[in-house]
Amino acid sequence: MSRRHHIPYGRQDVSEEDIAAVVEVLRSDWLTQGPAVPAFERAVAEYCDAKHAVAVNSATSALHIACLALGIGKGDLVWTTPNTFVASANCARYCGADVDFVDIDPATYNLSIDALAEKLTNAKAKGRLPKLLIAVHFAGRSCDMEEIHKLSLKYGFKIIEDASHAIGGHYQHQPIGHCQYSDISIFSFHPVKIITTAEGGMATTNSTELANRMKLLRSHGITREKTEFIHSDQGAWHYEQHLLGFNYRMTDLQAALGLSQIQRLDTFVARRNQLAQMYSDLLCDLPLILPAKSSPDSLSSFHLYVILIDEDRTKFSRRELFENLREQDIGVNVHYTPVHLQPYYRELGFKSGDFPMAESYANKNLSLPLFPSMNDADLVSVATCLRSILCEPSVSKDYHDAYLS
Ligand SMILES: *Cc1c(COP(=O)(O)O)cnc(C)c1O
Repeated sequence: MSRRHHIPYGRQDVSEEDIAAVVEVLRSDWLTQGPAVPAFERAVAEYCDAKHAVAVNSATSALHIACLALGIGKGDLVWTTPNTFVASANCARYCGADVDFVDIDPATYNLSIDALAEKLTNAKAKGRLPKLLIAVHFAGRSCDMEEIHKLSLKYGFKIIEDASHAIGGHYQHQPIGHCQYSDISIFSFHPVKIITTAEGGMATTNSTELANRMKLLRSHGITREKTEFIHSDQGAWHYEQHLLGFNYRMTDLQAALGLSQIQRLDTFVARRNQLAQMYSDLLCDLPLILPAKSSPDSLSSFHLYVILIDEDRTKFSRRELFENLREQDIGVNVHYTPVHLQPYYRELGFKSGDFPMAESYANKNLSLPLFPSMNDADLVSVATCLRSILCEPSVSKDYHDAYLS
């Protein structure tokens, strides 16, 4: 089968309205720190039904200042999942904290509540409990936040939701980012994510204190609030630096794009769910493990549609399937190589075998193309390609190469 065009695994959806919104900012007096950033913050806070939203230049920056706002520092211990992008763990390292991981649940690929409970029991016995858990909503599906919250009350750790994949999703009928079971939630607006600002991120929280601390940290630790001044007000030029912050600000150009994009967020998530359902219908009889259904009170934003090769039912390896699909111009991808097996983390002492579920998952997973502007015909052609590969054992790639050479 030959394809006429490349199908990427993800792609942003930028409309004429989005472009007009950005151009309008370019013609205005403010390219950065004008009215668009607070307007976008209000829109996200309202969408998530959270008290505060703090916009920054990436989710990585948001994770960093969220950790700092929660008081994470040298010698503290932060736990997260190995099945995530490196930023979920790196943010703790920026603060000088130690990182450890909790193995994943084989059904949801999120961190396992059983593994977490067991690890906490052991950690308590050793007197080395985590100060913070960063729960990642993998592929847009929420972790079991209620159970994590119960454990946090028992063991006294803080919670950040890394919802980089998950804006527009729901948990227990509440929008992800509502923070009913966490201190802070983080979103990413990188172009492959659900909505985009090019680069960009946001932190939501219901704590005024945490929101204020994150606002200070994103802009050099500087305040211009008269009521906050430590020295007497010298005049209109007066500002004060109260702590060591960063330049993590979002620009008005980015915020205008985000504000325009968020109007279509529900449409994007609905289309992602529709496409995911089509994949599940078309692939259900193949030797693959398909994403588990969400519970009725939750909605995945379906950032990713991840399939696992069922090794008991096929002789194909993930690598063969990956290369075969890529050769046919289908932009499949792998999410993720477990963070603890990255050379940087191995250097810190982690090794193969530390988190067996995450490692076994990592050898089998494949993300299929999924983005809101993907049309039905492209999805059907991806499914057809998968079927023709998996149902025709004699054209395994190795055989094919050997035969042709
Ligand atoms: C994309 C991503 C990030 C980082 O987002 P940026 O906005 O690119 O900094 C963090 N965590 C997870 C789980 C991600 O997928």
